[in-house]
Amino acid sequence: MIYLDNAATTKTAPEVVEAMLPYFTENYGNPSTIYSLGTASKKAVNQARKTIADALGANMEEIYFTAGGSESDNWAIKAAAEAYAGKGRHIITTKIEHHAVLHTCQYLEKHGFEVTYLDVDRDGLIDLEQLKAAIRPDTILITVMFANNEIGTIEPIAQIGAIAKERGILFHTDAVQAFGQVPINVDEMHIDMLSSSAHKLNGPKGVGFLYIRKGVKIRSFVHGGAQERSRRAGTENVTGIVGFGAAVERAVRTMEERTKKETELRDYLIHRIETEIDHCWLNGHRTSRLPNNVNFSFLFIEGESMLIMLDMKGICASSGSACTSGSLDPSHVLLAIGLKHEEAHGSLRLTLSEENTKEELDYVVDQLKQIVERLRSMSPLYEDFVKKQQA
Ligand SMILES: *Cc1c(COP(=O)(O)O)cnc(C)c1O
Repeated sequence: MIYLDNAATTKTAPEVVEAMLPYFTENYGNPSTIYSLGTASKKAVNQARKTIADALGANMEEIYFTAGGSESDNWAIKAAAEAYAGKGRHIITTKIEHHAVLHTCQYLEKHGFEVTYLDVDRDGLIDLEQLKAAIRPDTILITVMFANNEIGTIEPIAQIGAIAKERGILFHTDAVQAFGQVPINVDEMHIDMLSSSAHKLNGPKGVGFLYIRKGVKIRSFVHGGAQERSRRAGTENVTGIVGFGAAVERAVRTMEERTKKETELRDYLIHRIETEIDHCWLNGHRTSRLPNNVNFSFLFIEGESMLIMLDMKGICASSGSACTSGSLDPSHVLLAIGLKHEEAHGSLRLTLSEENTKEELDYVVDQLKQIVERLRSMSPLYEDFVKKQQA
């Protein structure tokens, strides 16, 4: 099997599993208790909190553990909207956010908030002038993703943060794809809230965190016990948090070497596809791009069919096409960068890890060439196109 869907989730690293195991077996104490079995758990949770805070240039007290990226996005946006509603009811985001952000904004629109969805250019970048122009006296929150999960484009986060800071507006970023892949400093980038999820960086599924800058007013997300400074009640997911800490420690330690290797593999894969397959193009920005993201559109092809045929060859990939996402519309991200419906339907996302090899990618491209040829040979649209070209 060749796994090229690391934007969907990653393999839990063996050293992460290793770090988690004792907290299932001998160290099962509840962190809220006062005997040493419990305090050992509390210590482990706070050790992970410290590792994560250090990775962001934040303080330990600003890291709140959650059940993942979606929960962190929901919490940041809904709670900030509620806390600052007295000041205004306008929120700015983009058209290419993850559904955890987009659907949360749509929910708020039904509850008396106004949301501006910024356009992006052909590469997926927002326009800072458009952002500035969208700011109003009643704007309370700007939420822009750090890096896009489909096309890999990295947004100008430090500049957005500077604009938000200058205007006195809260700035939240969904950094689920970026954390562990790109260096992040919440002070230098003027980030007030940041969402992350462990399973996107070789940690376990079902655990995330929200960074909340000290001084940001925000209501509690889960009411109950005093866990997470009373803002997110419930007995801590100790094993998950320990795994998250180990994953972040690993991600920071290996970032330079790992992303260098991924970038080389990425560019090799892009080059082979571009030069060896006709009527296709790269989606997303060429350089302001996640080290492991490759996204192509192939004309005259259904992404869905490509995925099925790749799967038969043992290759796991993803598409911006319809059915996979459970809806009939193609990816909102690909439409936002200006693709036509049929172009978005013919897209393929390949997201690498440092474990992939050049040999694997050679095999993938060889298979892909045959698959594209085969699918096009069955396409009446392609037949018409060829006839017209010959005429
Ligand atoms: C995966 C992802 C999420 C959701 O994270 P979960 O932990 O799966 O809830 C949110 N935003 C982005 C950009 C993602 O890639």
